[in-house]
Amino acid sequence: MPLTKYLCQRCTNCCRWPGFVKVTELEITDISKFLGMEERDFIEKHTRLRPKRNGLALIEQPDGACIFLEGQDCRIQPVKPQQCRDFPNAWTFPGWRDICMSTEIPAVK
Ligand code: SF4
Repeated sequence: MPLTKYLCQRCTNCCRWPGFVKVTELEITDISKFLGMEERDFIEKHTRLRPKRNGLALIEQPDGACIFLEGQDCRIQPVKPQQCRDFPNAWTFPGWRDICMSTEIPAVK
């Protein structure tokens, strides 16, 4: 049976969900370049250690939304982390269907 696929409607609800948005070394390079920042400055200003100290994640705004969420837009959309690109087709979290506005689409054969 084919797996269900979802088409992101850019509702940004997942960007407001509490949790950790992982960033890899390569993503840090790309995002820093996109923002016109030195990597070291980007790391200091926009990231934090993940709980198991096994890498970095983006910091949050005071309300828990991702630091790069601006209104309904991602400030780093062209270079956003793979974790963001993969939701909700490669991974989800408990209760995701209650907040995600994505549309179910027929699986590609
Ligand atoms: S990087 Fe962009 S897409 Fe990813 S959680 Fe932050 S605002 Fe959302």
